[in-house]
Amino acid sequence: MKIGILGAMEEEIHLFGDKMTGCSSETRGQRKYISGQLFGHDIHLVFSRWGKVAASSTATTLIERYGVDYLIFTGVAGGVDPQLNIGDIVVADNLIQHDMDVSFLPQMKEFEIPLLGRADFPVARKEVEKAIMAAENWLGQDLTKQVAAETLAQFAITAPKVTCGTIASGDQFVSSIAKVQQLREKIPNLCCVEMEGAAVAQVAYEYGIPCLVLRTISDKADDDAIIDFPRFISSVAAFFTCGSVLRLLEGWGSYT
Ligand code: SAH
Repeated sequence: MKIGILGAMEEEIHLFGDKMTGCSSETRGQRKYISGQLFGHDIHLVFSRWGKVAASSTATTLIERYGVDYLIFTGVAGGVDPQLNIGDIVVADNLIQHDMDVSFLPQMKEFEIPLLGRADFPVARKEVEKAIMAAENWLGQDLTKQVAAETLAQFAITAPKVTCGTIASGDQFVSSIAKVQQLREKIPNLCCVEMEGAAVAQVAYEYGIPCLVLRTISDKADDDAIIDFPRFISSVAAFFTCGSVLRLLEGWGSYT
């Protein structure tokens, strides 16, 4: 299996890259694709940049040029489910593009992708469960070894948990309670918002390959959403998502 890993954080790419062996790299379309091995898997790793276009063009290159047959997207997201706290990990079990709206056309639902006949991209249950197990495993065994207690305290992270639910993506940084409420009313089981996952899920769906999206909650998509992003990402989020994905790759066959 060839696995494509897309990160929305450069800091995270370094953490993966440090663990990969036999690496080579190539730059295409302003992205650096790093190819190598992790736990016996062929990995193609890339910083996708932010937004749906950036992520979907990168995903397409991973499939077309590198022949990947499994996509994993990692990054941070704004938690909109009130049960979620900063530092929690969300595994998408469904993905929606919240800024897609051609519902003025007859028979088109809001969020429906034109000519695709669907508005959402569900993730196979067994893939979701594998990712949840891996993330729980990492949090339980390695969190305190890899992230200092004072760093966790600075971001008020006490007992991070892993959850699954719908992730909504759009070309917009969500930072208002009004927008959060509007999205929660329209999208059932909405956990968090970000800017890439559902775009990658659409590409994966169109090519008929699986796609996993894992996110660490960085903010609550409200008026305080502009946190100290660079520090949160390099000292917390990169470890959470990278640690979880490494654990997933390490135990790939055993999570059944
Ligand atoms: N890393 C940047 C901040 C990026 S914010 C910095 O250093 O300043 C945009 C990224 O975070 C996107 O990848 C998006 O998917 C995710 N994200 C986090 N919180 C979000 C929110 N509230 N709304 C939309 N995207 C969010």
